[in-house]
Amino acid sequence: MTTQAPQQFASDNYAGICPEALAAMMAANAGSAVAYGDDDWTQRAADAFRRLFEAECEVFFVFNGTAANSLALASLGQSYHSVICAASAHVETDECGAPEFFSNGSKLLVAPTSGGKLTPEAIRTLATSRSDIHFPKPRVVTITQPTETGQVYTIEEIRSISSVCRELGLKLHMDGARFPHACATLGCTPGEMTHGAGVDVLCFGGTKNGMAVGEAILFFDRALAEDFDYRCKQAGQLASKMRFLSAPWTGVLESGAWLRNAEHGNACAHLLADEVAQLPGVRLMFPVEANAVFLEAPVEVLDRLRARGWRFYTFIGGGARFMFAWDAQPERVAELARDLREAVADAEDTALAA
Ligand SMILES: *Cc1c(COP(=O)(O)O)cnc(C)c1O
Repeated sequence: MTTQAPQQFASDNYAGICPEALAAMMAANAGSAVAYGDDDWTQRAADAFRRLFEAECEVFFVFNGTAANSLALASLGQSYHSVICAASAHVETDECGAPEFFSNGSKLLVAPTSGGKLTPEAIRTLATSRSDIHFPKPRVVTITQPTETGQVYTIEEIRSISSVCRELGLKLHMDGARFPHACATLGCTPGEMTHGAGVDVLCFGGTKNGMAVGEAILFFDRALAEDFDYRCKQAGQLASKMRFLSAPWTGVLESGAWLRNAEHGNACAHLLADEVAQLPGVRLMFPVEANAVFLEAPVEVLDRLRARGWRFYTFIGGGARFMFAWDAQPERVAELARDLREAVADAEDTALAA
């Protein structure tokens, strides 16, 4: 037996599997089932998505978000097409070129943004900047909901983006690695935020929602899903024991855990933000709208926080990032706030003594 180390908030991928997903996984493990997705669990998971989204969408299950995004984007255009995204988008900064690779070279066109949100104006500018044969033809827009820094597009913002997409002949993809957190924030239905607002394809993250592994791809325009199963297989994303990717979805979707897990993560982010936002020298870099808190603080303070055993990343914008998953312990959040408060005080004492 290893003893549990104190909980960290460096990533929402540090969390384990939530009870609802695990119970479904255990249930799926009782006996055998047909392979490659022709099983009852996979049917039931796809149906659960169709019920939740109130839509007759096509549903696919893959292992991770990089594959989900890359294959979905590849299915929306040809290799000579381009994909408009925010400069801070995961597809641009954290997928090792997979969207370009799986689309055989479709170029990502990046727009500068604030908080990672694309705007209709930014999309229009990029999409209409060139129309000659020498430039990759814009065909797709991808938005991240919530963004990499935890900002949530309102339904109105998504609608105005989809309307410029329709006008310019662009498909709209949503990277929903933390889609449930955005639903929790807006209090809207999943359908309202997607097909109701003009989204063509959604990648719905399971990993950051309390599953061990797995993301779902939902095509609201079913024609776009043609041959997508072949694309998944070719990319090495067709699970032979598919039931272990699909069953956990029945657990989280049918029980409502998908939303409760996200609400809990969001609440813990607010808990930390409320405790530390007023500390001298500490600043929230972005409004807290989902399960992320980005803190700007002097290097001495962050060093002291690390010395107290806390792990966090500073790769986005130089601030300290804290992410809260379904299992975040409010007592640990309080400890983090206390340690940050003490780190600020210690750094001040040292500065005064010098
Ligand atoms: C985590 C994440 C993904 C998925 O990443 P994988 O590591 O490939 O599963 C996709 N988009 C965003 C915005 C993410 O935060």
